[in-house]
Amino acid sequence: MTVELYTPGHGLYTDTLILYGLTLPLCEVLGKKGEVPAELIRAEGTGSFYRLEVQVDDHGELASLITDYVTNERDVIKDALTRGPLGFFADGDVNIFLQALTDLRGLTDYLSSLSEPGHAERAGEGRGGAGKWKTMKLPLMPMAGKYLHRDLTETSRYPQAQYKACGYCCALAALGLFKASFPAIGRGREWNRVIIVPAFEGLVDASYFDTLDMFHIRDWEEFYRKLRAVGGARRGVTGAAAQLPLRVFMKLVVSLFSPSLVRAMAMARARWRMLGTNFAGRPKAPQVRGYQELEVTALIYGLDALYRQGFMAFSELFPLIRALIEAGEVDALESFLDFVANRSLRDLYLFARGTFSTLERMKAEREPEKRKLWGEAVRKARECQEVAGLLLTT
Ligand SMILES: [Zn+2]
Repeated sequence: MTVELYTPGHGLYTDTLILYGLTLPLCEVLGKKGEVPAELIRAEGTGSFYRLEVQVDDHGELASLITDYVTNERDVIKDALTRGPLGFFADGDVNIFLQALTDLRGLTDYLSSLSEPGHAERAGEGRGGAGKWKTMKLPLMPMAGKYLHRDLTETSRYPQAQYKACGYCCALAALGLFKASFPAIGRGREWNRVIIVPAFEGLVDASYFDTLDMFHIRDWEEFYRKLRAVGGARRGVTGAAAQLPLRVFMKLVVSLFSPSLVRAMAMARARWRMLGTNFAGRPKAPQVRGYQELEVTALIYGLDALYRQGFMAFSELFPLIRALIEAGEVDALESFLDFVANRSLRDLYLFARGTFSTLERMKAEREPEKRKLWGEAVRKARECQEVAGLLLTT
């Protein structure tokens, strides 16, 4: 049997989170019993919402898979959403999420309401939505804040109506944020929290969701720590998230995706778009400093071309990436990522020039620790030549 679902229609960012809240628990519960078949999930992104076909008997079975997952992972979810890089929520908020996600009957009814498009509109959710609904918090909907408001209508002094949605929409979006977002923290003039969420337009199956889930669980923590440890070109600035423009940081995170995740994304008949938000201020009362949607399909194809030719994971180049960021050669780093995407010689040249001057400066260092970093960066720069050769000859 196949159950058809439409995400509620809260805009691309929130619907993408809800998509992951619906699909990744499934991959995890069923993955423990064996390989997740590709046909388990078919998802079609329209650019603003998603249509899903899930191979389960009925909405009740789908609800019970989500409920099982949440019951088992209760403490982990609560921990992740109340402290650390995703610690935007108070204990009370998370308890409400967990209650919704473990209420089998309520969740089944909710999922049934998704069998037609437009749940949000039918239920009277949205800006200034019905009083009984809950306010959607900013990390679940960055556009709900004053940021866009200020951007669009500079002089308006009217208070913005809060965006409201039912408890299940909010809870599934929070679950998706926990399962599928890539958070990073950086410290500059203030703490930055960058949250990146992969979205797509076109057709994707369960192999993508399963691979994304695996990458998230097995590998992301390591990159999270590495990105956070990157030093500053300026004093007092640490963490790549505080030093790179949001756009460059988003490309960098994509380049760290595992070869199997890149493969699954390249195989799908879909265009890929990263949704990135930069938050600042206290984590429990964050402000949105920037939001960007970035098309990364060409970068995914470029990385996939490298991996198909047997190149090791791009993430192995991290010592050089780090050296470039710490030397303030952000343009050189971006040029390299752009070269992987478009194979333009101009980008390759800009990268080579930035790398050369970075390595020359590092060479002058006398401290043994810094000499070691220089040696590593030089070796990685040679591997970049190999990358260039592979991409230019295919
Ligand atoms: Zn709802």
